[in-house]
Amino acid sequence: MTGTPAVGPATPDGRPAPVRPRALRTVFAATVLAVTVAVAVVTPATAVSPAARTTGSAGVAGRPVALRPAPHTVTSDHLIVASASGPTGGERLVATDGGVFAFGSAGFFGSMGGTPLNRPVVGMADTPDGRGYWLVASDGGIFAFGDAGFYGSMGGTPLNRPVVGMAASRDGRGYWLVASDGGIFAFGDAGFYGSMGGTPLNRPVVGMAAAPDGRGYWSVASDGGIFAFGDAGFQGSTGALTLDSPMVGMSVDAVTGGYRMVAADGGVFCFDAPFAGSAVGLVGRAVVSLDSAAGGYRVVSSDGGVYAFGAAPFLGSVTVPPLVGEVVTIDPGHNGGNGADPAFIDRPIDGGDFTEACDTAGTTDLNGYPEHAFNFDVATRLAALLSAGGATVVLTRPNDTGVGPCVNVRAAIGNLAGSDAAISIHGDGGPPGGRGFAVDVPVPVVSPISDNRAIVGPSGQLGDDVRNAFLADTGEPVSDYTGTDGIVPRSDLGGLNLSTVPKVLIECANMQNGADTANVESPQWRQQAAQGLADGITAFLVQREVP
Ligand SMILES: [Zn+2]
Repeated sequence: MTGTPAVGPATPDGRPAPVRPRALRTVFAATVLAVTVAVAVVTPATAVSPAARTTGSAGVAGRPVALRPAPHTVTSDHLIVASASGPTGGERLVATDGGVFAFGSAGFFGSMGGTPLNRPVVGMADTPDGRGYWLVASDGGIFAFGDAGFYGSMGGTPLNRPVVGMAASRDGRGYWLVASDGGIFAFGDAGFYGSMGGTPLNRPVVGMAAAPDGRGYWSVASDGGIFAFGDAGFQGSTGALTLDSPMVGMSVDAVTGGYRMVAADGGVFCFDAPFAGSAVGLVGRAVVSLDSAAGGYRVVSSDGGVYAFGAAPFLGSVTVPPLVGEVVTIDPGHNGGNGADPAFIDRPIDGGDFTEACDTAGTTDLNGYPEHAFNFDVATRLAALLSAGGATVVLTRPNDTGVGPCVNVRAAIGNLAGSDAAISIHGDGGPPGGRGFAVDVPVPVVSPISDNRAIVGPSGQLGDDVRNAFLADTGEPVSDYTGTDGIVPRSDLGGLNLSTVPKVLIECANMQNGADTANVESPQWRQQAAQGLADGITAFLVQREVP
């Protein structure tokens, strides 16, 4: 498919038309400020063929004119969440902490970066002259900079659903906020023309855009459904199509008055607006916004990537470390005090469909180097590597001198942290003639207190990624006495049975083996082991970052 724009509310592919609720009326909440209740014109969505879905061949018709040219000197420790192309032709990006990055002719007028926020920033809008901007947080809090005036906010008012985006009124003396349930909050001279608040939606609303004349607006849902209010004309939607990736935002083409939508994988869908390419296959992390600019548009991803299409110039991009936004729980097996407290570690716990001991003291290598010390050392090294990549790291024990926690508590720590990945680090006490490392992965286990079925698939992927990277980085062979190709499916480990997040357990080496004893006692090898684990976990996380 090349870049022919889909135009108008036609149904060129013959799909049945409207499936969207026809909703009128309803102000989102009694607390809406500056609201004029008007007749809402919700145009039923009509299916239109997506204009822009390339088939992975980014080199055809809409090749981006610029792709994050190196070096990138601008970095952010937080994910980029929104962007805006002002009337001056510049571009601004904003991160979840309120940090603002201005490129080209776009001025920098301040940011919330460094100021603790109650809730993350989710959107931004420019003033008409480009000499100011607003940021909005998910609680509806508004932060105004430059010549942007403050006309009110929802900050401090409990919301049914979080705010997900905003748009400025035509003269810049007002703005709208939109919540994920479609509720619209209008401030200043921004008129209220209706909302989807109170109407059950198939999918959450993810963004909005103002009509060119300022007397209406669109909101867009994650399935690409478009809700048009006031003067905002309905020109098509993807609401009846099955998308590869959820829609995340929209933007108006100032020349044609049509609009473009963008999906998390970089797919661009144009309605009465020229198509100049998509970022599918190019982005490393989820796309968060699209900005129409003179003769083209820019697609922005959460890692700060900016992809310019058509005549829109590339003005710059932001580097976000690859693991920002990811939570990893590291569980160093056993603990230094376990051996001296059998009453604690021998007590039975429910391991998910079976009873096992709270924990054990672990093994030692041939020279008496204890496993708990090895585990903690590798875990500490791994934590440093993952933190350097931007990850939030949770350790199940803070030092190597305590007792416990039990394996069920270790699993709960990973679960409660909402971990994107978790790993238990061990050294094995295998047969002296055996050598090598093995990665234990969960199999489906359902018990009265647990159900790990949802994480078996991703944990298997995590196991493969860890196995591959550990093999490459350490030179340690896969185990010659357990498992297949270094992978061991296990149903008898509470730490895996009780996990609700992707999790594996690695036996880094056989501490009863001479060659492996030499390895585990080498700080250099332990660093390689940590690097292998970091590389495997990173590979697993990064491939999941584009929904
Ligand atoms: Zn162990």
